Order: sequence, then structure tokens, then C-alpha cells
Amino acid sequence: MKLCLLLAAFAAGLTVSTSAAEISRPNIVIIFADDLGWGDLGCYGHPNIRTPHLDRMAAEGMRFTEFYSAAEVCTPSRAALLTGRYPIRSGMCHDQFRVLRSRSLGQLPDSEITLAEALKAKGYATGCIGKWHLGVPQFNPGGHPRRHGFDFYFGLPHSNDMDPTPVAPKGAGRLAEQKAEWWNAPLYRDDQIIERPADQTTLTHRYTDEAVKFIRSNKTKPFFLYFPHTFPHTPLFASKNFFGKSPRGIYGDVVEELDASVGRVLETLRTEKLAENTLVFFTSDNGPWLIMNQQGGSAGLLREGKGSTWEGGMRVPGIAWWPGRIKPTVQRTMACTMDLFTTSLKLAGAQMPADRPIDGLDIRPLLFGTGTVQRDAYFFYRGTRLMAARVGDFKAHFMTQAAYGQPKHEDHNPPLLFNLKVDASETFNVTTNHPAVLAQITAAVDKHKAALQPAASQLIEVEPLPEKK
Ligand code: MG
Repeated sequence: MKLCLLLAAFAAGLTVSTSAAEISRPNIVIIFADDLGWGDLGCYGHPNIRTPHLDRMAAEGMRFTEFYSAAEVCTPSRAALLTGRYPIRSGMCHDQFRVLRSRSLGQLPDSEITLAEALKAKGYATGCIGKWHLGVPQFNPGGHPRRHGFDFYFGLPHSNDMDPTPVAPKGAGRLAEQKAEWWNAPLYRDDQIIERPADQTTLTHRYTDEAVKFIRSNKTKPFFLYFPHTFPHTPLFASKNFFGKSPRGIYGDVVEELDASVGRVLETLRTEKLAENTLVFFTSDNGPWLIMNQQGGSAGLLREGKGSTWEGGMRVPGIAWWPGRIKPTVQRTMACTMDLFTTSLKLAGAQMPADRPIDGLDIRPLLFGTGTVQRDAYFFYRGTRLMAARVGDFKAHFMTQAAYGQPKHEDHNPPLLFNLKVDASETFNVTTNHPAVLAQITAAVDKHKAALQPAASQLIEVEPLPEKK
């Protein structure tokens, strides 16, 4: 059934050209940190988290200063990355529940075409290593990564804090010392749970071992490695080579271990002589989880963090690396995770699904320095609510809500307006100075809403807890 849908979707888009560049089928590696803030890496200005491998990746590649996740929390952000579509179109968002829970029955709908499915159809080997969070296979086998285009899976099905044991104290994720026995996360290899609770202290290291193995065993054909790390989402754990080493405390330990993981992936690509035929993109699913206190990251000069549609909730690090193809650059044009879907399909010579709206743009002109990308508007959703929109340098907030501690959103009429190039911190409201800009953004929102067909939410239903005997 799924295959039929795929074929029909692609058949509708047969007009796409297949130039030589498009059929070279480079490898694609997407490394996706969880809750890493815009200000958490050395190359984004952090004063003492040491990230030499990511800094080198940025120096050799393209560092985006205005790269966005497509949502302010995990599940919708991942759905958008893998489908190229705002999560409201797939139903992978909800105003109250926000993300899939450990007993959720919903999943990324089979009607969605994932990046893995699209690339697999072009002959790619596909692997997912890390945190999935688009279905809980224990309660819904259809929610497994292998049912969504991935040949191989190794990782946790959801966040590492989602199954606390009865001994975990309240707010365990933000305590200075976190004990492994407080969580009971299952670790999967393909369809089997191989460890429970997963030893989270060695998770980053083992994920990386699997990533290196995946690259080596697929080096003779094109591959797509989707590598969504479990960390620095809390609870934080680092292996013994990193624990207690960073001046920034355990959060720094965890980010420095992620950095080393990126270094190992890039080194593997170099030693296997794959670097010049591989696009690697590093980014994060949302901003830092600020209520975790010292266990949470930093959005640098940006306002707010994870869970909000202020810049700190959705503007994240974004680094593209492809030696010989991407020149060392700081890229100040905005781009977003959904663009990775469209751009990857173009690089693989795959046809774009033509039977549905795709929100991601082809950013090859930015990556290769060959031109500009015309983006009409970018929309900031919190759950199903369109809170803000950006056109050019300006962002208008129609509604705002702090990530935590503000139970209801606040409406703004007229909207708040910020010039992000002048005021990245969204401090100075310039609504009265730019009526024409506001009218332009409002028109873009009206056009988007008029054409939008929201899907039913997948985040509501859960498997009831077994009755106590
Ligand atoms: Mg997250």
C-alpha cells in the first residue's frame, strides 16, 4: 500500500530533469542533536564548551547563522525534517501534548513520504541511529523506523526521560546528579529491544560505533545516514572519557562527547575516501531546554528556548560540510531543516512528490554559492497554532507564549514586529515603523492559512496503563 502511494506520488512529478549533477547520488548524512542551543558550540560563540571537531567542520564548510528547526519541540521537528513539510500537514503536533509520549499509539502517517523512502527508491542504503520519536514500536509496530524507509535502526524510540522508574525524584532531569536507575529507556537494534534500561552513559559512543560501521559497510553504494542523537536532552549522561572534564559541567561533558562523535564520523568519511562525495549536515531539533537550569543549554543572544516560537526556541546551529563542493563560508541567508528534504532529493536526482505541498526549498544555490533562494515566508508554529511569521529580515508575532510558566498564549493585534538583522534578540518592537512590512507578512500568513489542510493529530491516543491487580 505504502509502495503504491510512493509510486503514485513520484509519477505525478515526472517532469523533473535529470542532469548529470543530479544523478551522481552523493551520500547524505544528517546529524541531529536534541535540544542543543544556538549558543552551545565554540563556533557559535560559546566561551568554554570545547567543540574542536564541529568548529573545524564549520571552518571547512558552511556555517549558517540563521538556520531554523521547523518546530519548537522534538516530535514535530523530526516529522518536518523527514517529510519536508510543516508538521501541521502530517498531524505530528498538538497544542496540549506537544510530542509523542512513551505509550502513544500515533505515528508519522504512512501517507507521508520520508526522506529515507525517497532516497531508498533511488537505490540508497538507509540507516537511522539514535532517537526516533515518530512512533512507539512497542505499542504500534507501524511506528517503527523500518516501516518508514530505514533499512537499519539502532536507538531509543523516544526521549531518554520518558519512562522514569518509581524511584526517580520529581524533576529528576534537572538535578545536578542524575542516576542511571531513574530511567528505563529501551534500546532497539532493528526490531528487537536489546537492552533495558539502556546504559545511557555509553549511548553516544555506541551510536557512533554503529554510525561508523554503517558508513563502512555501505561505502560501495550511496547511503543516507540519519543520526539523531539522544543528547543533550536531559537526563544527561557522558561516558567516562568525557564525564567531569568540561568546565561547563555535565552539559559541557555531553556536548563535548557529541563533538567527538561528529569528529569520528567525519574522520571515517575521510579515511574511507568518501568525504568528497558526501554532504554532512549538523543541526538540532529545537532550542535549549532552559528550565533544566544548569542541565540545559544556551541560545546565546537569542530570546527564550525550547518550547517557544521566539528565536531561541527554533533558531539552531546549522553546519554543512562537503569538501570540494561547499566552500568555507559563513552563510547569513536563512534556511531550515525542511530544506534538507528537498535539497537531498535534488542531489540524489529523485523526483519531488508532486501530489502534496512540500515546504522545504532547494538550497543548493546557497550551499554551492551559485545563486540565491527565493523564500516567500517562514512560519513559526507552536503545536497547531501559527504564532509568528518571517518575511525577509522581519518577523511578526501574532501570538506569544513563554515556553514554560505562561499557561495561555497572548494575542497581539497589531502583531509585534522585529527586524532580526538589527535585533536578533527580539527586544525592540518596531510595529509602528513598518506598516507595509506588516501588511506583507499578514498577507503571506493569510495565503498560507487559506491553502492549509491540517491533518488529524497523531499525538492524542495512548495505550492505557495496565490495571493494577
Ligand atoms: Mg528536542
